[in-house]
Amino acid sequence: MSIQLTEISKIYGAQKAVNAISFEAEKGEIVGFLGPNGAGKSTTMKILTGFIQPSEGTVLVNGIDVVSNAIEAQRKIGYLPEHNPLYVEMYVREYLQFQASLHNMAKSNIDGVIEKVGLTNEAHKKINQLSKGYRQRVGLAAAILHDPEVLILDEPTTGLDPNQLVEIRQLIKDLGKDKTVLLSTHIMQEVEAMCDRVIIINKGKIVLDKPISELKTSNEQIIKVTFDYKLEEQFIKRLPNITAYKNTIENNWVLTFNTSEDMRPVIFDFAQENGLKILGLNTENKNLESLFRELTQ
Ligand code: ADP
Repeated sequence: MSIQLTEISKIYGAQKAVNAISFEAEKGEIVGFLGPNGAGKSTTMKILTGFIQPSEGTVLVNGIDVVSNAIEAQRKIGYLPEHNPLYVEMYVREYLQFQASLHNMAKSNIDGVIEKVGLTNEAHKKINQLSKGYRQRVGLAAAILHDPEVLILDEPTTGLDPNQLVEIRQLIKDLGKDKTVLLSTHIMQEVEAMCDRVIIINKGKIVLDKPISELKTSNEQIIKVTFDYKLEEQFIKRLPNITAYKNTIENNWVLTFNTSEDMRPVIFDFAQENGLKILGLNTENKNLESLFRELTQ
């Protein structure tokens, strides 16, 4: 196992920020770490990286005890902390050289990393001249410089625009192929798009730990559809397997079905039979989002 947390707690005064949590992750896994603000995600990540010590429990990274052997464990860990702290007055290459020197590494590796994270054209710039997306790349580059086996990324995509989001997600996915990645986020779709597994934490306790593939086994289907004119409710009700419906705005409906059958062709036939045209149709996987709300409210 690359990551093994056993019965980890962190107590601040009277508060248990993290309360006896245990989980494991192995190489090749990208694990999404979800939870509302204040749930204990950052605290867990700081403990895992040896940045702070747990009040109780053991943390092993590649079998190395992070508490008693922090330096050795940290050689195996790349960490992108929340808010990505960087020395913004430094140039990108200079900053990465500085980081490499902290790892006692030769400079020759740096250009490879710069290329890997897509910073080749920015490497000569000062960090404070870079957009948020490129700063995230610098943070990621610093985290992977020493080719760690475990990557801990605390909200790596916060504040990125949609294009940057796609690029950084792809980069993390690529990195995850031969590493163990634990990443925290508030975005459910991100977990569904990138992760193999999801862990949800609430008030310091793990309330869900499941492979993403198992979340998708529910028969609930949510379909957003736009017809070319406003339908009466009584027509919508006639759709087979429909369990809920909502007329969001004008001709737009959000329809929920409970069936293993793909309802999209059924809706097309329904539209045709009733002389309607479909102007838009999207399926939505709300499973993780509804689970999250259920488990953390
Ligand atoms: P998350 O990352 O899920 O938003 P955190 O791990 O940052 O949550 O925080 C968990 C809880 O621990 C919060 O209630 C937070 O206020 C508290 N906490 C975190 N760090 C400290 C600290 N250094 N001193 C006191 N309380 C803290």
